[in-house]
Amino acid sequence: MSTEREPIAVIGTGYVGLVTAAGFAELGNEVLCVDVDAAKVERLTAGEVPIYEPGLAEVLESCRERLHFSTQLADALERARLLFVCVGTPPTHSGDADLSAVHDVVASMPASDTHALVMKSTVPPGTGTAVKRALAQQGKPLAYVSCPEFLREGSALKDFRHPDRVVVGDEGDWAGDAVVALYEPLGAPLVRTDVVSAEMVKLATNAFLSTKISFINEIANVCEETGADVLEVARGMGLDSRVGPAFLRPGIGFGGSCFPKDISALKQLAGNSGYHFQLLNAVIEVNDLQKRRVVSKLVKHLGDLVGKRVTLLGLAFKPDTDDMREASSLVLAARLLAEGAHVSAYDPVAEAHARELMPGVDFPGSALAALEGADACVLVTEWAQFTELDWQTAAQAMRGELVVDGRNALDPAAVRAGGLTYEGIGRP
Ligand code: NAD
Repeated sequence: MSTEREPIAVIGTGYVGLVTAAGFAELGNEVLCVDVDAAKVERLTAGEVPIYEPGLAEVLESCRERLHFSTQLADALERARLLFVCVGTPPTHSGDADLSAVHDVVASMPASDTHALVMKSTVPPGTGTAVKRALAQQGKPLAYVSCPEFLREGSALKDFRHPDRVVVGDEGDWAGDAVVALYEPLGAPLVRTDVVSAEMVKLATNAFLSTKISFINEIANVCEETGADVLEVARGMGLDSRVGPAFLRPGIGFGGSCFPKDISALKQLAGNSGYHFQLLNAVIEVNDLQKRRVVSKLVKHLGDLVGKRVTLLGLAFKPDTDDMREASSLVLAARLLAEGAHVSAYDPVAEAHARELMPGVDFPGSALAALEGADACVLVTEWAQFTELDWQTAAQAMRGELVVDGRNALDPAAVRAGGLTYEGIGRP
């Protein structure tokens, strides 16, 4: 079998699964996608794309003849030996990773020594060993490879095509070789290592990036006390090659489907094995508090929020995605409603999903309609259409004049030129 263009299976067609499928289909691999969600499979088979990810629909369409969607594993098992596991691993109530979907996949495997599970889902270190043990107990001699995914929603296809590195953790067997060969055309640096180290790379990376965000957020808070401008501070810090400019953008905290759950999983994993991960606890706490600081800013300008009208511009956890998992907007809306404020909101893509998650919030259907009669607005997600908003028109729609730029993404001069009051994060 040619390893370069061999058929592969993708189990789980969410953000990671669909992007992985599209990316490999683009490289010429036939991809057999399997998902337990029959409605999703039906939509994908009909050529619909159930998530918003820039460029994804186009690639899925152009590679249509190499992509197959099914709820049944049988076809995939017959034609592919590498089974990329891309199922969700959401947090449980205890903050650990919920691996039930991974266990379901393991249970559905045949007693085969010609197939390999390639774990792209983010799982705690030790999962590979546990899965191998479970497979052995079930008499299933499948190979196992850890191949963690690092894509970012919003630029996921670009991240697939140009990864900073590809991490392959395996036991030095045929399966690891086959995964390395699959990724070879991308020309990315390869980290080939053992399974548990590969698993740890993923969680440690997300923990470090979260730490950088909470760090710069705390610097921003100190800047507010001292009169320094955190954007100048971050620029000056980022030019130091030991620091680097990435992830030094202060704002109202991180959310999304990965950072919060992955750092919680790492914290719990450490705790379960008797280690108190002090730094990570602080990172999480700083992030929680950062989301609430916006409320203090509103109170500082508006006083009591009872009856005040506050508009949230953007709801998705970041621009260019429809993903609402752990979005800062959810915390903010709930806090504002609890303070007695009237909340209206708009998001160009995530709104349909947000409506279900945000009872009590009004969704008038456009940015300007949401701003109508507002005492204040908060930029929550820096979609381009908000950074390009005409603030003169916005000011006419609003009743009050406060603009809280929760992402430091607006041009303060443009906001002020509209006769509005600009308040950023960590800026004088
Ligand atoms: P998702 O919820 O969008 O998709 C998961 C898919 O798996 C769903 O379509 C679900 O129906 C399907 N599924 C569940 N159980 C299944 C089963 N037994 N068989 C077949 N399909 C099944 O999740 P996602 O955002 O794509 O994340 C998947 C994994 O990748 C998670 O572990 C996540 O932490 C990790 N990850 C996500 C991102 C990201 O940005 N979304 C980035 C890197 C890593």
